[in-house]
Amino acid sequence: MTLSKETEVIYDAHRGQDYDSANPPLYDSSTFHQQVLGGDTTYDYARSGNPNRNLLEEKLAKLEGADYAFAYASGIAAISSVLLTLNSGDHVILPDDVYGGTFRLTEQILTRFNIRFTTVDTTDVTAIEDAIESQTKLIYLETPSNPLFKITDIKAVAQLAQARDLLVAVDNTFMTPLGQSPLTLGADIVVHSATKFLGGHSDIIAGVAITNNKAVADALYLLQNGTGNALSAQDSWTLAKHLKTLPVRFNQSVSNAQQLVTFLSERDEVAEVYYPGHNETHLAQAKHGGAVLGFRLKDENKAQTFVDALSLPLVSVSLGGVETILSHPATMSHAAVPQDVREARNITFGLFRLSVGLEDPDELIADFNYAFKEAFNDSTVTSTQTQHTHR
Ligand SMILES: *Cc1c(COP(=O)(O)O)cnc(C)c1O
Repeated sequence: MTLSKETEVIYDAHRGQDYDSANPPLYDSSTFHQQVLGGDTTYDYARSGNPNRNLLEEKLAKLEGADYAFAYASGIAAISSVLLTLNSGDHVILPDDVYGGTFRLTEQILTRFNIRFTTVDTTDVTAIEDAIESQTKLIYLETPSNPLFKITDIKAVAQLAQARDLLVAVDNTFMTPLGQSPLTLGADIVVHSATKFLGGHSDIIAGVAITNNKAVADALYLLQNGTGNALSAQDSWTLAKHLKTLPVRFNQSVSNAQQLVTFLSERDEVAEVYYPGHNETHLAQAKHGGAVLGFRLKDENKAQTFVDALSLPLVSVSLGGVETILSHPATMSHAAVPQDVREARNITFGLFRLSVGLEDPDELIADFNYAFKEAFNDSTVTSTQTQHTHR
């Protein structure tokens, strides 16, 4: 029986066979007893495999409708493993607004091993086609991208790639396996930073690479064991528990985000709102707009006062937690990008990214409403009395 994703995250096929507890035991061991010398053991050494990581991987594969999943010590560890399946001399096409850590990995590390990269605006399929070389092996996508939420047509790129025998990998972190299924759209590999929605509690760093391609799976397993970047038993166990609430967490966050989008779109203080739910290509390949949005203040000089007046959001990098997280790309994720380049790419001081969590959306809106008034209306009385009432 094929289960819905909502049931799949809860149902435990191993219960009653391997254990009877509601949650699997944590196999807190680096090594395993081997009574039969030279015998066939499932587990010998925990880097090579451990029950908690295997249970997690089985779940993650099912959620993306795939045969194989490999859990790594971070999203970047999963992404580096995907890229390290390539050989010296191979060429990769990447989005020009790819996640900063992915860009650093390619630019500062993998180029030393003669893996070559070309960045293009992947929303333009012709630009991808034009960048293909005889040594191109992989087209790497991230959609929606961030912080401006540009959308790439996964199916169109997969068709282009298939015709040329290239692989397509998609970073699906923002949409989760519930919101978008890149493998069913023709992609070969999906990666997630499980640090974000999959984990959901801002307590672990983890990543996963998922595929139906046996050769890619073998290469990913070799890298997991051979470079030692696998996810620990403890973090695998924690992530497997957090996954059970992914559907309720994510769906509620999406609904709350949609209310924030409506609210922000109507504010005079806001110049622009960026939300994947406003893009037709995105809506054709995903279930909804997700739970992360961007907005730009009309007056970027108010950015700090605005943040000072907000009470509820955590102001930080990251996303996908139960708590609403407000990020400031210019000073956080994109701080290393020179200011002129940053501004040319529209990542200005007035731009914020908002990952909407599980707080009461009316209270989030009230908090933002208050902050807009505080920051933009110079005549507003900023008495502690007002602050107190607001909180
Ligand atoms: C956070 C993130 C990553 C990196 O994941 P880590 O778990 O931090 O290593 C990769 N891609 C996207 C889209 C992310 O948001």
